[in-house]
Amino acid sequence: MYREEIKIAILGSTGSIGTQTLEIARAYPQIKICAISAHSNIDLLEKQAREFKPRLVAVTNEEKAKDLKIKLADTDIKVVSGREGLNAAATVQEANTVVTAVVGISGLEPTIEAIKAKKNIALANKETLVTGGHIVTRLASENGVSIIPVDSEHSAIFQSLQGCRNKSEVKRILLTASGGPFFCKTREELINITPADALNHPNWNMGAKVTIDSSTLVNKGLEVIEAKWLFGTDNIKVLVHRQSVVHSMVEFCDNAVIAQLGVPDMKLPIQYALTYPHRLPMINNELDFTKYHNLTFDEPDTDTFFALSLAFDALKQSGVKPTVFNSADEAAVELFLKDKISYLGISEAIRTAMDKIKNIESPTIDDIFETDRLAREIVYSLQ
Ligand code: NDP
Ligand code: MG
Repeated sequence: MYREEIKIAILGSTGSIGTQTLEIARAYPQIKICAISAHSNIDLLEKQAREFKPRLVAVTNEEKAKDLKIKLADTDIKVVSGREGLNAAATVQEANTVVTAVVGISGLEPTIEAIKAKKNIALANKETLVTGGHIVTRLASENGVSIIPVDSEHSAIFQSLQGCRNKSEVKRILLTASGGPFFCKTREELINITPADALNHPNWNMGAKVTIDSSTLVNKGLEVIEAKWLFGTDNIKVLVHRQSVVHSMVEFCDNAVIAQLGVPDMKLPIQYALTYPHRLPMINNELDFTKYHNLTFDEPDTDTFFALSLAFDALKQSGVKPTVFNSADEAAVELFLKDKISYLGISEAIRTAMDKIKNIESPTIDDIFETDRLAREIVYSLQ
């Protein structure tokens, strides 16, 4: 069995991906936790710090950071705060891999800092590649670090590509989507959807933002853009696969299709991103094929779930359009969860922001953050 020490920092250790990463670390003591971070959930962060004993803990909310410092005063764990604190966690000296499990564009800057500090990236935060893909992938190759996907679909594609010796033999990517809780619903049936309805995902238990995004197919749109940066092709076909067993596929030039299958459980892609190119045993999540009598594949309904088409537009136009798509969605989901806009208003808000904001080709980091601000401003003005 693979026994080498794996030293990691987890950005966003209190979230869905973060806590599952720690579950894996609990099962494999060879995984050492060097730094962890949260935004404001310091109760859980304190428990994690006491159990895993990282050298550094970052809290982006300044007030909460002060409280945590007091709580951890009896330990020698260093508590840091704000954006700089998160960057310190991303560049903590001992770690060789950084798990980016924060939500939203807040992942972009620390991921860039981690890459500059020559850390490999186990990338859950898809927003990093959606907004800054051209910068992040260039930096990764300049610094000789790898970006290994944690997102289940991208992990499946990555695994399916392991035997591929020549990238030009890849015809296209078949990206599967669960279809979310509103598969087959008409637009009229979506008018009165509440946050509680949209937070009820059939197959996956995830953070609030990605769960809402899964229901609108915005998540699939973000994943299409993420796949372009990870695998260098925009020949990507989305297929709705309700059972979430086939996690995605690669079609080659001879029409061979290679897929990765498994139960819907993020622990496998997280673990593989940490141990790649090796594998470690996993308990309790064997796929029982006899439980699945039908594996179905459907075209996505891009009339009702038109945010997916907006994502393909953003991918085609490139520049800052993917940032507009992402940031308008982040703001719109925030408003929807506070009951300030309707469910269908999320995708409408993205369309409005994409129409209003002019594109910038090859944007700098400053252009990306300015676009993020503008897109949010437009969406907040719609409530
Ligand atoms: P969660 O909402 O569960 O967790 C988010 C984490 O980020 C928490 O630790 C949270 O801290 C922290 N955080 C929140 N806001 C900020 C901020 N402004 N600055 C710094 N840290 C912040 O998210 P998920 O774990 O579901 O998702 C994380 C990322 O992984 C997302 O990009 C998502 O798209 C991606 N992903 C998630 C999957 C899943 O199964 N959950 C599957 C595939 C991809 P606190 O707890 O204090 O708020
Ligand atoms: Mg996914």
